[in-house]
Amino acid sequence: GELSYDVYKPQASKPEVQRSLRIAILTREPENYSTQRLIEAATARDHVVELIDTRRCYMNINAFSPEVYYDGRPLPRFDAVIPRIGASLTSYGMAVVRQFEALGTYCVNTSTSIGNSRDKLLAHQLLAKHGIGMPTTAFASSPKDSDNLIELVGQTPIIIKLLESTQGRGVVLAETKKAAQSVIGAFRNLNANFLVQEFVKEAEGVDIRCLVVDGKVVASMRREAQTGDFRSNLHRGGTARSVRITKEERDAAIRAAKILGLEVAGVDLLRSNSGPKVLEVNSSPGLQGIESVSNKDIADLIIQHIERRAHPIVRRRTGR
Ligand code: ADP
Repeated sequence: GELSYDVYKPQASKPEVQRSLRIAILTREPENYSTQRLIEAATARDHVVELIDTRRCYMNINAFSPEVYYDGRPLPRFDAVIPRIGASLTSYGMAVVRQFEALGTYCVNTSTSIGNSRDKLLAHQLLAKHGIGMPTTAFASSPKDSDNLIELVGQTPIIIKLLESTQGRGVVLAETKKAAQSVIGAFRNLNANFLVQEFVKEAEGVDIRCLVVDGKVVASMRREAQTGDFRSNLHRGGTARSVRITKEERDAAIRAAKILGLEVAGVDLLRSNSGPKVLEVNSSPGLQGIESVSNKDIADLIIQHIERRAHPIVRRRTGR
């Protein structure tokens, strides 16, 4: 029958590619730059790419014949799945990735590693346990402890961050204790989960994004906040350019990805007076900024990594 999702056939094959893989990209954003680049890189290396809308996957969970269904039938056996799970679909997306793992499909990254990085508190705890430098961070569940939280982190100014924040939207710099208390009060009233963090002033609105693939930093860029802002997110009008990172920064990025179990990761760090401080580790790093700044074909490096790791699947003779 007809497939109801987009399938991209191989382009002219490259002679060095040993075998064609069947790769699924789990995404809700088919038009997205990163998705398009991954399709381009994979089909250029003789692979077939199928675009699967994560939210439209459904599953039967049992011990003997797990499947992932889509539009009334089981999905084919893929050799590899690239999960590009948005923050709004983390929990369901992880369940879908887990189901592919139960089928024996190679996933870059795994559901566990995605979960490790998406849960900011868990990520902090795992990185701290392994001695990765991070800004001092405090969190609490009870509203009674707001003042104590501020004290744990040190003096103002301090950073208050929504745990669900993306693109810098939920990150606030509170200059005074009074300001910090009122922001915390507002977040509490909204029932929002947040953390309180030391403000790394000497970073001066600059952060470093390191793109890690298979235990190596394959590209890095420095992002600088717009004048008057401390947030260097490109979505906040920040600008990016290439940067030479130190060995210490490289090691921190590689170790952070490894600790969380991510084979592909975007590691954000700040340059502080006491060395690199990891801010966050992203399991579906965007490719647009980093490819244009570094002039590197990161999508191709990711596909080459998949070729090294994916095991060929013996397909059933059912035509799917
Ligand atoms: P998001 O996940 O919403 O992007 P981040 O934690 O990455 O939130 O913060 C957004 C930006 O704010 C960072 O890229 C960095 O420039 C700045 N920032 C975040 N935390 C700190 C901090 N503790 N000290 C200094 N700057 C920070």
